Amino acid sequence: MSHAFSSPLPDLETLRTGGKRAVARALAAVETARGTCELVALLDAAARAARAHVLGLTGPPGVGKSTLTNALVQRARKAGQTVAVLAVDPSSRRTGGALLGDRARIQTDPEDRGIFVRSMAARDRLGGLSDDAIAAVVLLRAVYDLVIVETVGVGQSEADISLVADTVVLCIQPASGDSLQFMKAGVMELPDIIVVTKADMAEVARRAASEVAGAISLSGGDDQSGWKVPVIRLSATTGEGLEAFDEAVSSHLAHVAPGGAGDARTARRTEQEGKWVEEAIKVRFGTHGLGLARKIALTEGFAPYGPFAREAELVRRLTSGQY
Ligand code: GDP
Repeated sequence: MSHAFSSPLPDLETLRTGGKRAVARALAAVETARGTCELVALLDAAARAARAHVLGLTGPPGVGKSTLTNALVQRARKAGQTVAVLAVDPSSRRTGGALLGDRARIQTDPEDRGIFVRSMAARDRLGGLSDDAIAAVVLLRAVYDLVIVETVGVGQSEADISLVADTVVLCIQPASGDSLQFMKAGVMELPDIIVVTKADMAEVARRAASEVAGAISLSGGDDQSGWKVPVIRLSATTGEGLEAFDEAVSSHLAHVAPGGAGDARTARRTEQEGKWVEEAIKVRFGTHGLGLARKIALTEGFAPYGPFAREAELVRRLTSGQY
C-alpha cells in the first residue's frame, strides 16, 4: 500500500527524531492515507506513546486566543518545553484556504525545532473537530511536550474539543455578552478552566469574571469528578494572570492524570478513544451503522486493540457486510 505515499510514512521513532519534516509528512498522510495499514499502525503506536499535555483553547473570534497561545508558547519554550499548536479553522472549508493563514499571528522562529504550528480545516462536523484533526493531535502529542489546540466558538466547541484535550479552556471576553451567553447556556458541559481575557481592561474584566463565577456556582460548581472550575482573569499583553493560569493548568493535569502528562491510559483518554471510534463510524455509517459496530465490537472483544485499528476493522466489516 506504500504506493499511496509520495514519500514513506515515518515510524514512531522517526516521527520523534526526524524534526518538522517527519511530522509534516505524517500529518499529510492523515489527510491522504486514512485507513491504510501503515497509518493505522503509526496512529495506534502514537496513541499509546502520548507525551504531551493537550490544552484545548476555545472561545469566540477576537477573544484573544491566538494572543494567549503566543504567550503560552513563549513561556513553554523558555521553560525548555517543545510545543505544537493546531488551529482548527472553521472557515477554511468554504474559502478553500485557511483564513488564519499559517498562523501569521503566532510569532515563531522558523529555525526553532521545538515549535510546530499548523492550521487545519474543521470538516465533517459543524464547527467541530474533524477525524483528521483528532489524528493530528494524536501524532503531535507523541512528539511534543505541550500541544495547544485552538477552536473557535462558544457552546458546542467545548464538547468537541473535549474529544482531544486533557484540559479544556474556555476564553471569554469582558463586556462582550459572552458571559451572558454562558449563563444562558446553563446546563452545557463545563470547561475545565475559564479565562476572562484582556484583564488590562480592569473594571469590565472583573465584572465579567464575577458574573461567570456566579453562573458556575448556580450550576453546582463542580463537575462530576469533583473538579472546581477556576475562573481566571488574564491579560496576555501585560502578562497578568499567566502565573495563575499555569497553576490552574497544572492542578487540572494532576487531577485528571495523576501519573503525569505522558500517562496515556488515564480514564479520560480511554473514554476519548472510545468516542473517536464511535464518532468516526457514525459520520460514515449513521446511527444504524453505529449500532451494528457496537455489537461487533462487543461480541468480538475489540477493546485491547488501539482505537485506529478498531475503527479500521469496523469500517472493513461494515462496508463488506460482515456483521
Ligand atoms: P482570537 O481571534 O481569539 O485569536 O483573538 P486575538 O488573539 O487575535 O485577539 C483579538 C484582539 O484582541 C487583538 O487585537 C489583540 O491585540 C487583542 N488582545 C488580545 N489579548 C489582549 C489583552 O490581553 N489585552 C488587550 N487589551 N487586548 C488584547
